[in-house]
Amino acid sequence: MPSAAEPAAPVDSTELDLFRETVRRFFAAEAEPHYTRWEADGIIPRDFYRRMGAAGLLCVDQPEEYSGGGAPFEFAMVVLEEAGRMGYLALASNLTVHSDIVAPYLLHLGSEEQKRRWLPQMAAGECIGAIAMTEPGAGSDLQGMRTMAIADGDGYVVNGSKTFITNGQNADIVVLATKTDPAAGAKGTTLFAVDTSLPGFKRGRNLEKIGLHAADTSELFFDNLRVPVTAVLGRIGGGFGHLIDELPRERLALAVTAVGHAAGALEKTIDYVTQRKAFGAAVANFQNTRFELARMKTDLEVHRAFAEKCTRLYADRRLDVPTAAMVKLASTEMEGRVTDACLQLFGGYGYMTEYPISRYFADARIQRIYGGTSEIMKEVIARSLVGR
Ligand SMILES: Cc1cc2nc3c(=O)[nH]c(=O)nc-3n(C[C@H](O)[C@H](O)[C@H](O)COP(=O)(O)OP(=O)(O)OC[C@H]3O[C@@H](n4cnc5c(N)ncnc54)[C@H](O)[C@@H]3O)c2cc1C
Repeated sequence: MPSAAEPAAPVDSTELDLFRETVRRFFAAEAEPHYTRWEADGIIPRDFYRRMGAAGLLCVDQPEEYSGGGAPFEFAMVVLEEAGRMGYLALASNLTVHSDIVAPYLLHLGSEEQKRRWLPQMAAGECIGAIAMTEPGAGSDLQGMRTMAIADGDGYVVNGSKTFITNGQNADIVVLATKTDPAAGAKGTTLFAVDTSLPGFKRGRNLEKIGLHAADTSELFFDNLRVPVTAVLGRIGGGFGHLIDELPRERLALAVTAVGHAAGALEKTIDYVTQRKAFGAAVANFQNTRFELARMKTDLEVHRAFAEKCTRLYADRRLDVPTAAMVKLASTEMEGRVTDACLQLFGGYGYMTEYPISRYFADARIQRIYGGTSEIMKEVIARSLVGR
């Protein structure tokens, strides 16, 4: 990995384009025929992760010594952008958690034993990752979390619950945020890499959502869950700092997905308006349609440029917390504007679930909420400008 002073080598754009083609072909062959069924089932089958692993599309920028792809960071972002572009936002969210949150947490914070235990299996798709921070009473305000891990002999006993956890039904490993010292405030937060097969780990419902239907989003419960001390991830009491350190990648991943998702919605809309006729002309011929398409394309490209800049900053280890908040805020708000205006150009057909634009529209709504809401992004940015 480069140091902060040493930028990563520039990425070969031909190789990146070839990789993008590979990703597109893979999704067209392996996801497209099944996606509607996955939505009906509310979950993507584990076997699909194995296929992604076999194709080298999981953990693509993880080091080869842990069976990752060893590719530059930009390649990891291409997987998400393409999943978004094809309208598979639920898949993109699952992959973000697996490859772009849980795997980097393990790589950056894990002991050698933790890395060797989990990362190769995650790259192979044999083991699926989730991150559990949110609780019924603690979302934006994570300091309010109540899940407790109490030191006991050679380990910890965990009690509490989490909600809205992506990959919650499929997960084999959960990066779990707990309080180990409630009196210490933020300094009393500790992360654990939890093996979900342990007694006391229980999965709740696969939650029903207005969109993102193929993603398994779940409640999790911990009932005297005993974890060994070797499951501590990072420093005891250092959990909050670790979360903040890792947030830029999560937020950038959501922003890149937003750009891909908006681009896919716009492509579908251009196809539709050039074919659909009204008043004896293609809908594309109306000045309103032309101006809307022009406005959306411009909106998209401005945000693509910012996302690409932030991708480079991250690759060079220079993406800071406020800039990551800016790119997440800007790109996901743009995604909301674009998917809404695209649906409008489909008229009533846009509201029918058989038209994929309806999925783009419904799925996009979550992007302004998870990974930190737009309001929290504004707070983070404002704090960097004028303090608290
Ligand atoms: C589909 C889905 C998947 C998710 N996946 C995960 C996951 O994998 N892991 C995980 O841990 N969590 C996950 N989440 C949780 C998600 O990150 C939270 O829902 C989000 O952070 C908001 O928290 P909340 O829902 O408790 O809303 P609240 O915090 O209750 O917010 C309610 C409203 O108040 C606003 N608000 C709150 N504080 C402020 C403030 N200081 N200033 C101004 N406005 C404020 C918010 O912006 C929002 O509009 C997921 C959620 C969903 C819906």
